[in-house]
Amino acid sequence: MTLTSPGPTLGVVGGGQLGRMLGEAAAPLGVEVVVVDPTPDCPAAPVVRDQIEGDFDDADALHRLADRSDWLTYEIELADPDLLEEAGDDAGVPVHPRPGTLQTIQDKLVQNRAMEDASVPVPAYRRVDDVDALHAALDALGTPAMLKAREGGYDGRGTALIEERGDAADALAAVAGPALVEEFVEFERELAVMGCKGAAAPGDDPGDVAVDDDGAVDAFPVTETIHEDEILRATASPPRAPDDRRAAARDVALDVLDALDGRGVYGVELFDTGDAILFNEVAPRPHNSGHWTIEGCHTSQFQQHVRAVTGRPLGDTGRRAPTASANLLGGEGIEGRPPARLEGEDAIFAEPRAHLHWYGKREVYALRKMGHVTVVGERGGDVDASLARARELRDGTSFTSGGTD
Ligand code: ADP
Repeated sequence: MTLTSPGPTLGVVGGGQLGRMLGEAAAPLGVEVVVVDPTPDCPAAPVVRDQIEGDFDDADALHRLADRSDWLTYEIELADPDLLEEAGDDAGVPVHPRPGTLQTIQDKLVQNRAMEDASVPVPAYRRVDDVDALHAALDALGTPAMLKAREGGYDGRGTALIEERGDAADALAAVAGPALVEEFVEFERELAVMGCKGAAAPGDDPGDVAVDDDGAVDAFPVTETIHEDEILRATASPPRAPDDRRAAARDVALDVLDALDGRGVYGVELFDTGDAILFNEVAPRPHNSGHWTIEGCHTSQFQQHVRAVTGRPLGDTGRRAPTASANLLGGEGIEGRPPARLEGEDAIFAEPRAHLHWYGKREVYALRKMGHVTVVGERGGDVDASLARARELRDGTSFTSGGTD
């Protein structure tokens, strides 16, 4: 490929923090980014060439995006797969990961079935459409159990813990809609693997690369993910887990990738029970559990996604040093949606190996992801010190109308 100025355009459905970090990663590769997002002046807007204001399922906006793009991708699972396919076909522009992959993962029931078909170990689950089905499922799976909306859940929204049988009706009302219930996994830790699927061979013209070819497949080093109340709070890589658990997690993640079509990075979330690695879910896009790769790896997950989607060879996924990140979330005490004002960030700037990422969201609300801080440790050191420091720095910040979490 030849470098030009302006360069070719990557069209992205979604302009949140992931779109922003994709834009930051694309610029040095000579790739222009245009996003579609309904929020005026969305987080990606200041760092990309243009924002088309429109909903993720706005046919006109998606066609306009496709018409000015050389490749299409998405950073949000709410993107409409049929529209993406149609817009890509009409404009003759490839969409990666493939819209069919998005279709599969949008419904957690379909997603689990696809993984079972690929021999990926999945927690025991049942489809539940009403309270009778839920009672029957709980008889089989026992309690506690996790009820999950089949579609639209994120950051714990759409997930309800059922502690005992009597909670069933309330839980079903809370997730509101078609659901599945999973056995409660007594995990030792949660792990995530950012997998990557690249072009078939370096130098192939991206337009000509078959979408279901046996292209390059790789994975970033395994990450430990630390959730509270179903929301990701911090990550550590390497995970505080024995080597064989890391190797097993990587193997499962590669099996997950095998079941999904299209180039790009994929966030695979896993449970480590101590003797098994079980699949939780997969996102066909850069993922919060891979933000640490921006400073912690030779290639970031965002650069890797741009490389993959634009048909360039994958970059080196090696970790530079033990690295931890902590999310800056709107404090639980925040009421409404006040303007975002973070205090206590000076300590992050003062720390030589700490890196602040501010997502530029105008308003803060309780538990909203507003930014993150990454601390890169010493090569050969252990990750605990980085994790402790990242959490301390996070805890030293607060939004003027409530703390960070
Ligand atoms: P979301 O899509 O909202 O992130 P997840 O399905 O990933 O929802 O669940 C969020 C978190 O809830 C997980 O990271 C984990 O901590 C917890 N969780 C989800 N499913 C289970 C389960 N079957 N057993 C135990 N904990 C679970």
